[in-house]
Amino acid sequence: MPVDPSPPQRRQFAAHEIVFREGDIADAAYVIESGCVEILVGSEGSWRRIAMLAEGTLVGEIALLDGKPRTATVRALVPTSLVPIYRNQVESLLAQADPVLQYLMRVLLARLRRSGDTIAAGAAASPEAGPPATTASAAIGSDTDPLQRLHASAMRAFTIAQGLAHAFDADQLELHYQPIIHLRSRRLAGYEALIRWQHPSLGMVRPDEFVTLAEKTDLVHRLGDFVLNRAVRDWPALRAFCADGEGIRPFISINLSAPELCQPGIVEQVRARLADGAMDPAELRIELTETSIIGNTGVVTDVIQRLMSMGVSLALDDFGKGYSGLDYLQSLPFSCLKIDKSFIDRMAVSERSEQIIRTALQLAGTLGMSSVAEGIEDAATGERLAELGCVYAQGYHFARPMPVTAIGAWARGFSGYTRPVTSANDRAPDRAP
Ligand code: C2E
Ligand code: CA
Ligand code: CA
Repeated sequence: MPVDPSPPQRRQFAAHEIVFREGDIADAAYVIESGCVEILVGSEGSWRRIAMLAEGTLVGEIALLDGKPRTATVRALVPTSLVPIYRNQVESLLAQADPVLQYLMRVLLARLRRSGDTIAAGAAASPEAGPPATTASAAIGSDTDPLQRLHASAMRAFTIAQGLAHAFDADQLELHYQPIIHLRSRRLAGYEALIRWQHPSLGMVRPDEFVTLAEKTDLVHRLGDFVLNRAVRDWPALRAFCADGEGIRPFISINLSAPELCQPGIVEQVRARLADGAMDPAELRIELTETSIIGNTGVVTDVIQRLMSMGVSLALDDFGKGYSGLDYLQSLPFSCLKIDKSFIDRMAVSERSEQIIRTALQLAGTLGMSSVAEGIEDAATGERLAELGCVYAQGYHFARPMPVTAIGAWARGFSGYTRPVTSANDRAPDRAP
């Protein structure tokens, strides 16, 4: 739900006016903009003041946890201005937050409510007594509780965050390779390298779960280095199965995000790795998404231009997902357009989607770029894309990402893109998500 961008409405209270009463259904907390309020417990006529709060503090914040009745009455002591913060606003902000932050916020609010309940019941009238001790599990409730699920996902995020640095040292990361097929000739042209983490207790962790985390820390440097090293090291073995000639030039694509490309020394690092592996730079392709370029255009453009001058090529990844501004096609020298799976999926049911794909392919052709369609899951889609002039395709219909050791068996079984992918692999390819 989008957060209402309109400015908060203030609420004015005269001296001694009630802001809310114990038992009222709560939907907002209030920031005290000016003035002062008192918190009262007990029944009307025999209220007991348990606190006074002045300008700059928050009152009624337990309403941010749930819609349960207020546990105390709040009354203005002097003319007071309050800015409400509605629970639905906070909920929508929280929904977009990191699961660890969501979890911490909810546990703290749950503890606050318990201490509020205790105070209201008169069991702990003294603020010095502090809130009763609660364990996280007591605060978050039963297995079916949404908070319990949040607890599980926060624990997973903690485990991933804590284990990532060790994953590099403990050799838990792997690079898998997904074949990319030249549609017209139906031959294997190249691969996309996709990172995998075999976690000792969580099992296979998907890149979406840890790549962004690495990007926010120093580990981003190690991630890019690992991918580059592995891809260059595995390239001779992978290249051996690719078609070469008759318009097909074997290549391997790696994903580098803007934070990775912005690392100091990245160009020299790529140059050194390619030299160490005696790899032709023209066979390395870097995939970059529009979302990762936004906000980093200056540095990224400079790095890309230096990589291009070395002979490395550049693909615009996930085209059609997100912004799809055509700006980057003007400002960066992309040589390949990768059309996102979401477009490909709609192609069979939407004439409009097919038109957009046709136009994107024409645009790529006009600009002298090649094209890759992503996420092909059936033969008919592959056939149709070939008719529309798409150059390459990638998807589970042809092959799932797999370790380098599995490529040979797959390649020997692959005889054209209408053949369903059966795997007599040395090691199993990725399972379906
Ligand atoms: P991406 O670059 O768009 O990669 C394609 C994703 O689509 C991969 O998911 C791949 O396994 C999946 N895929 C391919 N064909 C099909 C299909 O037919 N059907 C379906 N449903 N999915 C298909 P994966 O490996 O989970 O990667 C997710 C994202 O994580 C990647 O999206 C990429 O943005 C990022 N990523 C992966 N490896 C790396 C890496 O080494 N470095 C960086 N910076 N990001 C990476
Ligand atoms: Ca990619
Ligand atoms: Ca993609």
